[in-house]
This record gives sequence, C-alpha cells and structure tokens, in this order.
Amino acid sequence: MENLELLIDLHQHGDRQGPGGKLETERAITLAALDKSRHLKIADLGCGTGASTLCLANKLNADIIAVDFIPEFIEILRRNAAASNLSQHIHPHVGSMDDLAFAHNELDVIWSEGAIYNIGFEQGIHDWRPFLKPKGVLAISEITWLTDHRPNEIQSYWDAQYPEIDTASAKIKLLEKAGYAPLGYFVLPEHCWLDNYYHPLQSRFDAFLSCHANSDDAQALVKAEKQEIKVFETFKAYFSYGFYIARKLA
Ligand code: SAH
Repeated sequence: MENLELLIDLHQHGDRQGPGGKLETERAITLAALDKSRHLKIADLGCGTGASTLCLANKLNADIIAVDFIPEFIEILRRNAAASNLSQHIHPHVGSMDDLAFAHNELDVIWSEGAIYNIGFEQGIHDWRPFLKPKGVLAISEITWLTDHRPNEIQSYWDAQYPEIDTASAKIKLLEKAGYAPLGYFVLPEHCWLDNYYHPLQSRFDAFLSCHANSDDAQALVKAEKQEIKVFETFKAYFSYGFYIARKLA
C-alpha cells in the first residue's frame, strides 16, 4: 500500500486532520465580525473532513465550498453534512488549493485551518486574494513562532519541515504587504493540539497497526507521528498555530 493511502487511512477517522477546535473556529468568526445578518459565500480550503466547515455552516447563513484534494476526506464531509442536515449549505469539492476555479471577487470569506502551509503562506495569501470581494475576509491558521528566540534544535526541525515558519509580527507584515488589513490574531491553545488532535490520533495507532498487519510502512508512519507529538510536547513553548484574520483592502 502506498504511504499516502496509509496516511489517509490513519487520518480519515479523526474529527480533525490538524490542530484546531470548535471554540477557536468560533473565536475567529467573532474576530472576523461575521454573523447571520447577511448571506455569505465562503471557501474552506484544505478542509479535510470538515470540522471547520460544519462549524461555519452551523454558525452562519452561508454557502460553503469545501475544497480538499483527498477524495476520501471530501466523502466523509459529504456524509457528515448530510447527517447534520447541512447539505444544502455545504458544497464539498475535490480539488487543489493551488488550482481554484473561483471567479475574481466571488467570495465573501476564505477560510483555511492548518492547511495553507501546503502551498506556503506567502503564495497562498497572494494567489487567493483575487477571489475575495473587496473587504472580503481571510481567516487562516498558520504555524507560528511564539518567541523571538528559540533553541537550535527546534529551529532546525522547522527549518527542515517548513522554513516559512515565522513570528506573528512577520506574518502580519506579509498580510499587509499583500493587500490585507489585519483584523485579529490569536494563538491556538495547547488543548487544540493535544485534546483535539494528538490524543485522538494516538488512540487510533493500535487499531491502525493491526488493520495493516503491522506492516513496515504502517509502523514507520506511526513512528513518525509519535516523533511529531514528542517534538510538540518538548518545544510547545516556542511554536503553535496562529489564527490570522484579515480584510482584503479594496
Ligand atoms: N482544515 C482541516 C485539515 C487540516 S490538514 C482541519 O483543520 O482539520 C491539511 C489538509 O490540507 C488535509 O486535509 C490535506 O488533504 C489538505 N491538502 C494538502 N495539500 C492540498 C492541496 N494542494 N489542495 C487541497 N488540499 C490540500
């Protein structure tokens, strides 16, 4: 079995495919000053199985186009939307966030939790901007340094994983340069990583390994996930996801 298939199998059974939380999605909705007073067209990019999509659909009066390039995740979102009676508001779509078919000035909101790193923050905020209406809202979570200095070990870890990691002030500067006005920023608290993402993931390791007959590839994947969790536990004082909310300047 290909490693991507294993990765999908391990992650499709989680509520989330990355750190985040319902309360935090709601906090970002509040900072973005979004409410039910008008109908919104929203794109949720890299939606995974749709934890944020469902939250947005519940809280707002919106049509949400939920995009992910993994068909299995999109299928689960489709089922969850139907089970929550939200199918008429949620439009799941298999596609890539670097090849979006929206028209210019089409969207009121672009949402993306724990996913923009796949194309890079700077490229994402630049390439997605034309799809937003003037004064449209961008709400994205992005790996962020929490301190100005940090141990060499965690610096080199992230330099290898995602060299675009930076402090919030640097990320906000990029948003301003790309033509957005910042509306809000907050850090995802530890429970978004541990209670909402890593602990549920850990609880699936045994079943996942036995389902794949303890194959070398399955063991290697679990080992890599365990290492990632250890890095977070050891160095969580230095990095987290930052949630950035900004408005497109006209
Ligand atoms: N937003 C979800 C998932 C975050 S994990 C959550 O918070 O739970 C990152 C997601 O980005 C995964 O679902 C992955 O399939 C998706 N992804 C990665 N590269 C992508 C691309 N180029 N286009 C669309 N989706 C992508």
